[in-house]
Amino acid sequence: MITEARPLSQPNDDTRANGMIVTVTGPVASDKAGVTDAHNHLWVAAVDGMGPGLPQLTDQSGILDELVDYRKAGGRTQVDCQPGGCGRDGQKLLELSRASGVHVVACTGFHLERYYPPDHWLWGADIDKARVHFVREIAEGMEETRPLAQPVRAGFIKIACQPTVAASPAILIEAAAGASLETGALTGVHTEKGADAETIVALLQRHGIAASRLVIFHMDKRPDFGLHRDLAQQGILLEYDTFYRPKYRPEQNVWPLLESMVAAGLDRQVAIGTDMADRALWSRLGGGPGLVGLVTRIVPRLQEIGCTPATIKRLVGENITTRLVRAASHSNTSF
Ligand SMILES: [Zn+2]
Repeated sequence: MITEARPLSQPNDDTRANGMIVTVTGPVASDKAGVTDAHNHLWVAAVDGMGPGLPQLTDQSGILDELVDYRKAGGRTQVDCQPGGCGRDGQKLLELSRASGVHVVACTGFHLERYYPPDHWLWGADIDKARVHFVREIAEGMEETRPLAQPVRAGFIKIACQPTVAASPAILIEAAAGASLETGALTGVHTEKGADAETIVALLQRHGIAASRLVIFHMDKRPDFGLHRDLAQQGILLEYDTFYRPKYRPEQNVWPLLESMVAAGLDRQVAIGTDMADRALWSRLGGGPGLVGLVTRIVPRLQEIGCTPATIKRLVGENITTRLVRAASHSNTSF
């Protein structure tokens, strides 16, 4: 009797066809992802040899309580932007998601070098080694979770740029772009306050990444409406997250910018995040406004400035979650 080889993809793992996003607990239909924080940090472990003053988030019961508060307020999903090697713990993300009922999308890829131990292998890797590592984290599971019976998969790929593309790690950027093409996973780009975003976009497009498969983080720190309109009109998603940060003058910057984007009909190109790497922003860790602020502060303000329910739904969910559904990849491998 001839036994056919098992196909690589399992029927219940055809996340693309079913419009599913990959969360730490498994695939979730993107239209069930609900209110979503497009950029956050839910767990940041200490890293060996790390310099002083870098963020840490390791108070599991406080973080859990806060996720429960978020869910009770109507929040459903969090996008975690801490890649492996600089404090990510996929198992903790899984435990927090299970215990709170909040969906969590984790990432592979890389952050700025200063967040890693001094001799982390990634910074000496060649393109292939890094690309294969990123693909495995999407396809099989994040490195630190592979010993688990059910490894936990990453749901998108993060790239971190320095203030200029010239000063950014070309090898890792090319590796991440290759992994994104291979897996169809969304690429999310950390910018230093939006710096050199135009060049980053052009570089990734040369690597084959479509504008519609790109989200650029922290763009509201460079509140130049003309630039935002141009990037948005190309199909790029722009993430804004300075709402709670007086030093970025949200009343003068992010709010007017957001109003201009909505008025220009570009409400499909902006995603709202809160980027709470700093524990002072967590209400259960002694500060505020906490994860619930997305629902209790930002959404009411969007209503106040005249956003329609459809626009609000896009800004605090739909725009990021629809893009987290993996696109058709350039390889024949399906996961
Ligand atoms: Zn961040």
